[in-house]
Amino acid sequence: MQQKPKINIIGAGISGLSAGCYLQMNGFETQIFEKHSIPGGLCTSWENGGYTIDGSIHWILGSKKGSGFYKMWSELIDLEKVPFHNHDVRMHIEVKNSADKYGNKVFKLYTNLDKLKAYMLDLSPEDSKVINEIIQDIRNLQQFELPPVMYKLPLIPSIIRSIKMARYLKFLVYLTKQKKITNFDIAKKFKSPFLKESFELLFDGDEIKMMVINFPMAFFDQQCAGYPIGGSLSWANRIAENYISLGGKIHYNTPVKKILVENNEAKGLLVRNDVIHKSDMVLSTADWYKTVFEYLDGKYVNDTILNLKDGKILDVYYSILLVSFGLKKSYKEYPHFSRFPTDIKLESPCGKSWDRLETHFYNYDPTLAPEGKTVMACSFYTTNGQYWIDLRKNDRPKYRAEKKKFTDSLIELLNVKYPGIKDEIEVVDFATPATVLRYTNNWKGSAQGWLPGKNMAASSPVKFTLPNLKNFYYASHWGRAGGGIPISLIQARDVANLICKKNKMDFDPQKGMHSGWSMK
Ligand SMILES: Cc1cc2nc3c(=O)[nH]c(=O)nc-3n(C[C@H](O)[C@H](O)[C@H](O)COP(=O)(O)OP(=O)(O)OC[C@H]3O[C@@H](n4cnc5c(N)ncnc54)[C@H](O)[C@@H]3O)c2cc1C
Repeated sequence: MQQKPKINIIGAGISGLSAGCYLQMNGFETQIFEKHSIPGGLCTSWENGGYTIDGSIHWILGSKKGSGFYKMWSELIDLEKVPFHNHDVRMHIEVKNSADKYGNKVFKLYTNLDKLKAYMLDLSPEDSKVINEIIQDIRNLQQFELPPVMYKLPLIPSIIRSIKMARYLKFLVYLTKQKKITNFDIAKKFKSPFLKESFELLFDGDEIKMMVINFPMAFFDQQCAGYPIGGSLSWANRIAENYISLGGKIHYNTPVKKILVENNEAKGLLVRNDVIHKSDMVLSTADWYKTVFEYLDGKYVNDTILNLKDGKILDVYYSILLVSFGLKKSYKEYPHFSRFPTDIKLESPCGKSWDRLETHFYNYDPTLAPEGKTVMACSFYTTNGQYWIDLRKNDRPKYRAEKKKFTDSLIELLNVKYPGIKDEIEVVDFATPATVLRYTNNWKGSAQGWLPGKNMAASSPVKFTLPNLKNFYYASHWGRAGGGIPISLIQARDVANLICKKNKMDFDPQKGMHSGWSMK
């Protein structure tokens, strides 16, 4: 019997696990090397004082049967076994300077588009033109299955693929129109001061393209972007279990130090304790910067890669200060997700300050806290994650003291909004960008790879291969600006397809199909 080609994979995040599954299905012998003791990478959760803190998924694309991502996830997970929660209201936005006609200061972003339209029309019938425009822009996106999933994704476009893709030309027309519109453009069109202020605050006062909210809204309305009960680690564990059942092997607590190269061909990995693992090919799904500039010593680069490293093409995505609390009460009487103003600014030593807070009560997931209790998380986005990384590295006592100072100030502000919450806190958990770097190696503590920035359609120049290096592949959320779990899945699927093609092997993503789906 012919020997199966061997592939060593770096990283057991969503990209590494998913690529591992697709490659195992298609005749390769793979093993994954993971620095952490558990799978998931950024898609993770952890225990603290009897509570489960979730580090990633707020919603995931593909929770509705029949959608493109449902089909893809079903190649890896039995989705019929995953209960999803769909929120009635995506977010409650509290305004500062106005009120609606009933005297309320909170705008409800309903996930059901008919409900959202009726709610806004009731508040301001004279704004019917702009309200209809907003809803129609989202509905236009719903006409297309996103992403355009095909049974296979041929890398050289075939005639059939071109015909199928032609449908999406109309989609591109919508996209071109929408990608210019920001929340401020929409806000200007409202006559109602309340709706005007609500739309200005859609992104906490920042001017952002409406597409950032329109895409998820299109999916929320279709109940296709739910939250999987059990959270992030449970999601990753399901893929890891499938990978093992397909014959894959995961080496935990095994950081990779170098990618071994001979005559410009990847030959294997050098891991912890200088152990060598030889293979026919190497696939890295770990951090892009470390892969290119540390594990390969920056030897396989071109001008684009160097410009990317120097921040001349794309910025690194925000890193997140994630402060979570284990609370003795369920707080079910409050909305699950709110953004609201504070009278005093919350200052971070990284140079950023916030005069609005975001609270996320996870009381809709009973698996995360004991009965009658809940986890509540506050997220803060910063582009200076490096501050926290350097502080932890250079001055651990000051790092701890700054964390405490920040959480103490935060608790005081929360106590104004939720009177008495201070006394309900059993656990305080603070994950900084240094935590993200320590556990996942993501450059500068980035939460989602590259930031798409002003150009929402910006493509990442990170390719599946590197110049002049044979038998090496790369795939992860750094492969497409904006990142996120669905991107990791698509990257994994596409790189497995490419590896099959290069090795003249048939790529069938559905060999381990769950839930009885077929796209053939
Ligand atoms: C707070 C937060 C909230 C988020 N919310 C969402 C959300 O709601 N929806 C969404 O879609 N996405 C969300 N994301 C983003 C999402 O979690 C990531 O984009 C995605 O999980 C990235 O997966 P990946 O496999 O591509 O990369 P990673 O998760 O970074 O996986 C890389 C893996 O490689 C391992 N590794 C690195 N270096 C080495 C080495 N030298 N040796 C061995 N192993 C190594 C790491 O430990 C890790 O396991 C969120 C992220 C954060 C931080």
